[in-house]
Amino acid sequence: MKEHLNTFEQYKTPFFWYDVTLLENTLKTIKTESDKYGYHVHYAVKANANQPILRKIEEIGFGADCVSGNEVLASVQAGFSHDKIVFAGVGKSDDEINIGLDTNIFCFNVESIPEMEVINELAAKKGKIAKIALRINPNVNAATHHYITTGLQENKFGINMWEMEDVLSALERLKSLQLIGIHFHIGSQINNLDDFKGLCLRANEIQEWFYKHQIIVDHVNVGGGLGIDYDNPDANAIPNFEAYFKVFSDHLKLRPKQELHFELGRAVVGQCGSLITKVLYVKKGVETNFAIVDAGMTELIRPALYQATHKIENLTSNKAENRYDVVGPICESSDCFGKALMLPETQRNDIIALRSTGAYGEVMASQYNLRTLAKAYYSK
Ligand SMILES: *Cc1c(COP(=O)(O)O)cnc(C)c1O
Repeated sequence: MKEHLNTFEQYKTPFFWYDVTLLENTLKTIKTESDKYGYHVHYAVKANANQPILRKIEEIGFGADCVSGNEVLASVQAGFSHDKIVFAGVGKSDDEINIGLDTNIFCFNVESIPEMEVINELAAKKGKIAKIALRINPNVNAATHHYITTGLQENKFGINMWEMEDVLSALERLKSLQLIGIHFHIGSQINNLDDFKGLCLRANEIQEWFYKHQIIVDHVNVGGGLGIDYDNPDANAIPNFEAYFKVFSDHLKLRPKQELHFELGRAVVGQCGSLITKVLYVKKGVETNFAIVDAGMTELIRPALYQATHKIENLTSNKAENRYDVVGPICESSDCFGKALMLPETQRNDIIALRSTGAYGEVMASQYNLRTLAKAYYSK
């Protein structure tokens, strides 16, 4: 990071900085590792929807996984082919469903019977058949923050297996729907690969259930969720995709001709982004000093929202270390990036990098306190 200090000093802080070379290398790794098994990768657009990033991901040949009508439109704008776009989400509005239908997307990942009825009705009006995958709640737990687990019965996501008989009878009625797949997504920032093994074993049982009901779908989609190393962004800049895809190859039983799809977000873009901010004031506290920086929860809400931690580096100072709470300027006590951190002695105008902000950083920005949205800059 320090090698970019001269560049960073030219821009108005706070801003997002994207290392395009790292993004490209990450994409190449994912491509090599998923190609080994002929797997299909869709990028979860919600992690970072910047057009230059979407275009890079489209160029390597991945599809797009969208959770809103605007994400579908942003993907089309970035060049993603309509037949590589999937659209998930528990609360798709009629307008958004119509965007999906008009775009002729590959598949709607549906999450309830009432939603199936609406998609059916809107598709019928257009004289179209909507291809759908059932998002199934596999009721498996993933060891991650409870705000970002999604694969449990108590979560709002997905259809539970005890409702599946009803879903199948609804499908018989709903003639403008075509079932092409089953879909799972168990959560985010999952670093224990055993959680994905658990998903595979459960998916095998669920496939058996469908088989007993004379259904073999063409597509199985296991979602995303692979985590990144927030503590060591340089040592582990690219997640272990080799081991990740191997878990599915080893444990998931696909029927002949069934295709396997993934929806990776964080693992694709998380490490390529940093939030660059400047120290406004250093204020003495009782136990610690406060380094008050010009970025806040408006640029990066993950610490306030999920108690997430991002590695914090002072790029300017080489002095002896001292203890600091690094806090933003927003009028909320949760606007804090790190408590009691050891940092080189810090003063006004020092440049600070908050690392690993490529995913769920800029996309979650708000203008709370009437702040101006931060800009994005790219390394090339
Ligand atoms: C958020 C989401 C993803 C991507 O999750 P990551 O943890 O960023 O990989 C994939 N699929 C669905 C349905 C999602 O909601």
